[in-house]
Amino acid sequence: MQTPGPELSIERGVNLRAMNAFGLPAQARTLVRVTSDAVIRRLLAHPDLGRAPKFVLGGGSNVLLTRDIEAVVLKVEVAGRRLVEERADAWIVEAGGGESWHDFVAWTLDQGFPGLENLALIPGTVGAAPVQNIGAYGVELKDRFESLDAVDLVTGRSVRLDAMLCHFAYRDSVFKRDLAGKSVITRVRFRLPKPWAPVLGYLDLERKMHETGIVAPDARQVFNWVCEIRRVKLPDPAAMGNVGSFFKNPVVTADQCRDIIGRDPEIVHYPLPDGSVKLAAGWLIDACGWKGKSIGRAGVYEKQALVLVNRGGASGAEVLTLARAIQESVYGRFGIRLEPEPVVM
Ligand SMILES: Cc1cc2nc3c(=O)[nH]c(=O)nc-3n(C[C@H](O)[C@H](O)[C@H](O)COP(=O)(O)OP(=O)(O)OC[C@H]3O[C@@H](n4cnc5c(N)ncnc54)[C@H](O)[C@@H]3O)c2cc1C
Repeated sequence: MQTPGPELSIERGVNLRAMNAFGLPAQARTLVRVTSDAVIRRLLAHPDLGRAPKFVLGGGSNVLLTRDIEAVVLKVEVAGRRLVEERADAWIVEAGGGESWHDFVAWTLDQGFPGLENLALIPGTVGAAPVQNIGAYGVELKDRFESLDAVDLVTGRSVRLDAMLCHFAYRDSVFKRDLAGKSVITRVRFRLPKPWAPVLGYLDLERKMHETGIVAPDARQVFNWVCEIRRVKLPDPAAMGNVGSFFKNPVVTADQCRDIIGRDPEIVHYPLPDGSVKLAAGWLIDACGWKGKSIGRAGVYEKQALVLVNRGGASGAEVLTLARAIQESVYGRFGIRLEPEPVVM
């Protein structure tokens, strides 16, 4: 007997080039578009695909595809955005996991709910945003997070997780660790605090205030500034394939940092509240002479050494070879192992 519910649309032999920001060639043997929790449960009940390995794909802006994908690709397309509740001290807003992150940020501002403006123009979907706890210009997703709904890829059960259960950390969460590949985030809720106050402690934003003479910007102004800064700094994936920062900024002990400063007094570093020190990965790569260099058709962006780019027709293997060569030279010179930010498949 058929289980009642939405039809499963199963696509075979799908080219993923337009579905990953690096623009890398890879085929999905099978692809299912996930528009609701029920679609996932229906897939799990499928006689052939139900128990097959799965790979969850959002906008493809944080993945490095080095080969064709044998696992069933679940393309998350859950739609919808709404105000859940207005409290005295916050707006609670919700969006479907398949919504474009940037469009959602713009929508919150249009509705008069500020708070996400520093995270404008980050490519990808709402559902992927908690996976690496996206962050930019002094704000991380965890600072505005309320809860999320995810569907377990074994049991098909929908669960609600609060911030504590998500274990958010710098570019990290439980979805990159214990729950990696085990669940699909279908809805995310945000807590946007009242009264709103701008977050302007970031050097580029301070520079904008100085240039424009605007000392008390509203949220729309901060949004516009962030978009302007990002458009100048980062290549547009539509024009030059890339996934933004390719490596995480490494965190070292104060002793390690002192040792490196002894040898390289110029090193860009940021002391953290717990006494450790965050180093600028882009600076380390630049210091090893990589800016503007290429291996095959994969290269290091001329304006920012932290960004690896597809110079046209690169394969995932070429990008990976370049990334490994960079890791080796940074380790050789500084004794620091750079960790990639995107998921390598
Ligand atoms: C130009 C550029 C600039 C960027 N700038 C930033 C930045 O400033 N800050 C920052 O933090 N990131 C940045 N990124 C990285 C990227 O935009 C984010 O990581 C984004 O959240 C990825 O979303 P996505 O939908 O494209 O995810 P994908 O690349 O499709 O997936 C990323 C990972 O999340 C998993 N995943 C995706 N959707 C779901 C879901 N619904 N449920 C469960 N798992 C899921 C995937 O399996 C994969 O492991 C940038 C990328 C680019 C290309």
